[in-house]
Amino acid sequence: MQNYDNLIGGKWVAEAEAMPNINPSNTNDILGNYARGDAASVDAAVEAARAALPGWAGATPQLRHDVLEATGATIMARKDELGRLLSREEGKTLAEGIGEVTRAAQLFKFFAGEALRLGGEVLPSVRPGVEVMIEREPVGVVGLITPWNFPIAIPAWKAAPALAYGNCVILKPAELTPGCAWEIANILKESGCPDGVFNLVMGSGRTVGAQMVAHPGIDAISFTGSVATGRQIAVQCAENGKKVQLEMGGKNPMVVLDDADLDVAVGASLNGAFFSTGQRCTASSRLIVTAGIHDAFVEKLSAEVAKLKVGDALDPETQIGPVVDERQLQQNLSYVDLARSEGCEVIGGEAMDGQGFFQRPALFVHATNDMRSSREEIFGPCASVIRVADYDEALAVANDTEFGLSAGICTASLKHASHFRRHIQAGMVMVNLPTAGVDYHVPFGGRKGSSYGAKEQGTYAREFYTQIKTSYIAP
Ligand code: ADP
Repeated sequence: MQNYDNLIGGKWVAEAEAMPNINPSNTNDILGNYARGDAASVDAAVEAARAALPGWAGATPQLRHDVLEATGATIMARKDELGRLLSREEGKTLAEGIGEVTRAAQLFKFFAGEALRLGGEVLPSVRPGVEVMIEREPVGVVGLITPWNFPIAIPAWKAAPALAYGNCVILKPAELTPGCAWEIANILKESGCPDGVFNLVMGSGRTVGAQMVAHPGIDAISFTGSVATGRQIAVQCAENGKKVQLEMGGKNPMVVLDDADLDVAVGASLNGAFFSTGQRCTASSRLIVTAGIHDAFVEKLSAEVAKLKVGDALDPETQIGPVVDERQLQQNLSYVDLARSEGCEVIGGEAMDGQGFFQRPALFVHATNDMRSSREEIFGPCASVIRVADYDEALAVANDTEFGLSAGICTASLKHASHFRRHIQAGMVMVNLPTAGVDYHVPFGGRKGSSYGAKEQGTYAREFYTQIKTSYIAP
């Protein structure tokens, strides 16, 4: 069994503890033993990152570009192998795994270009003869805390802009999926990233994650994960004066209106609710359907759901891979029971036999928006179908949630699509498209309880990973 160490100050560091990385499609398949750092590992990584910071913050944009471009090129060249690793550790299908790796490569390449494009502004002062310059500088040492559901794309979309804009990084990936993060660390090192600029500290949230949030040598925290953890981190960051950015949950609505193309609506709902096993913060977990199309929609969607092939993520026939682990599977099953007890007709949702954590996708039909199963994020292959009278009620129900990440509408009406785009309380809106599945070169993020702080990705990522300096210059 291979051991995978932490990367601290450019050196691979074995820790006293390690944990097995288990394939959720086949629990007999162990990918390797991954180091489990502690508070002292974070301290060492911070020391290395602070030592490396002046050099990296002052490096030419060409050097930063070259490191990120080479990293992106290597990830792209190895996309099949890394996609397989991703599917083995996280459980999304091989096609989804390769797709996510491709996106990670594209993110590194995009931010390689951004390293060259970062500019400022020069304005005349209101005082005669004086010039004003507005420039962006790195924030410093940034801590990245990532979840298991996009084990290569999320570390990439945080690390690539952080490095492009001259910050040093400490990445703590989720305990369940350290494999892809380890590969990113290794590829960055091989691509010429200087020692200490990128550090990988694998370990638990309670020890490594908490120490990152508490450490005075870390200037900013970018977090993606659960609402409970995110809120706790925000409070601590405020107390310590750290910049913070949070991406948390969703209970994303997909509105289907009477005039929707039924095939488009069913296709978008099937994709949005169930692909990647529903384990996406942008998943369509509330399908809000107007009365005239409701029955035809449920009939067609249930028939499509019944046809979905659930199985081993590496089997080319598989459309829905396993749930990530036993704890998540039990949580999903308890929501299936809850939905039934709340009065829903449940279609599917059963656990399946096998050496992995397999579950049939579930539809909770005849749901209402006040049910707990319609309000709490499940993070599994489960979607509520809520019948509404008309567009106005659909919009009201869609907005009646603590979350606001992504929202979709299927309709042939430009009037309703435009009204929805303007009035939905969400950071991302999809018209005749699934709520999940976003581009890598435009901002990502939500509102209300889903997100906090600056947006991620695209040129907007600079809002978080840089800080502004205004200079006044007299001749
Ligand atoms: P999930 O339910 O997706 O596992 P979490 O919020 O628990 O959501 O985890 C997201 C990331 O946050 C993981 O990398 C996890 O280790 C980390 N984490 C968990 N608890 C803490 C904490 N108290 N402080 C910092 N990071 C944490």
